[in-house]
Amino acid sequence: MWQAEIRVDLDAVRHNVTRVRAATTSQVMAVVKADAYGHGSPEVARAALEAGADRLGVATLAEAMSLRTAGFTAPVLAWLVGPGMPRAEAVAAGVELSVSSLDELAEVRAAARIAGRPAAVHLKADTGLCRGGARPEHWLTLAEATAKTQADGLVETVGAWSHLVHTDRPEDPVCVRQLSLFAEALEDLRSVGLHPPLRHIANSAAALAAPATHLDLVRVGSAVYGLPPMPGRDFGLRPAMTVRARVLMTKRVPAGCGVSYAHDYTTDRPATLAVVPLGYGDGLPRAAGTAGRVLVHGVPRPIAGRISMDQCVVDCGDLPVAAGDVVTVLGDGRDDAPTADAWAATLGTVSYDIVTGFGCRSRLPRHHT
Ligand code: PLP
Repeated sequence: MWQAEIRVDLDAVRHNVTRVRAATTSQVMAVVKADAYGHGSPEVARAALEAGADRLGVATLAEAMSLRTAGFTAPVLAWLVGPGMPRAEAVAAGVELSVSSLDELAEVRAAARIAGRPAAVHLKADTGLCRGGARPEHWLTLAEATAKTQADGLVETVGAWSHLVHTDRPEDPVCVRQLSLFAEALEDLRSVGLHPPLRHIANSAAALAAPATHLDLVRVGSAVYGLPPMPGRDFGLRPAMTVRARVLMTKRVPAGCGVSYAHDYTTDRPATLAVVPLGYGDGLPRAAGTAGRVLVHGVPRPIAGRISMDQCVVDCGDLPVAAGDVVTVLGDGRDDAPTADAWAATLGTVSYDIVTGFGCRSRLPRHHT
């Protein structure tokens, strides 16, 4: 029995990876950072690899090492590794590391010495996002230093990469400019004798809609989870995560009844209220307030008043609702339950924020089917 839960449909994950596979002849990296966007990293990684993903991508060393500990032998790239982090362990475990600067290169070189094997690195170019990566004026220096380190046998440059400014608009002139800057960066690598076999810049939207960006590898996250990567475009993806809760109790109240903290909501008619055991401690965004909708008996109904830490109240009007009935809080698009995109539109955020809210910043149990 459950009273509130996340369900992750691994068939949907496999289906989505198959869609990406069909869209490219390049290698496919399934991005499973942040516990697979809240969907469960080992389960999603396994499903993605089964469906044809070639490799895995994560942000942190801890995420990469937990994949290794779980027995994954597929190539894993970690791209957000701070100073002093235990890179030697990662190199020993064959985790590939991103390098954006001379300082990072020095850390990787030291790690390779300790590990007693060359570190596999992906050099990162900043082509415009202005987060990690070497800016164009520092790129050649980094390339030269890497080539020297490679000659010393301490690194093997297996990749060169960058990241797009617009996650959902690969055709935007800014992204097009990024591609040409990246081509120049790759030319610089060739000039110092580096020929990384994996050149990559594409995310999900680019993987599905912009073949010119594919190069040797696409890094896909949102597509794997069935979060629509581009507004208004249907790529035949299936959302993998749904969230449901069972009504805890109901009560009939008259018109003019204030509901929840501070009485932000007042019933305008007699109504049946359903207490739902799911709140912002479970990832239900508190900011949604009364703009939030959930599906009750196939009908979208408003959240009545403030969302609490552990619960919220739903105004069910005259629907015949009873304790134990199932309310869908996050749907997969097959009915009128709000999808991650719908929640994101209500809140002025992105679907990634919604699924990681439920899956990472929450105590909800998660079941894989
Ligand atoms: N590559 C990097 C470096 C990322 O940080 C992410 C996700 O944020 C991705 C690829 C995947 O992006 P998307 O979920 O849009 O496919």
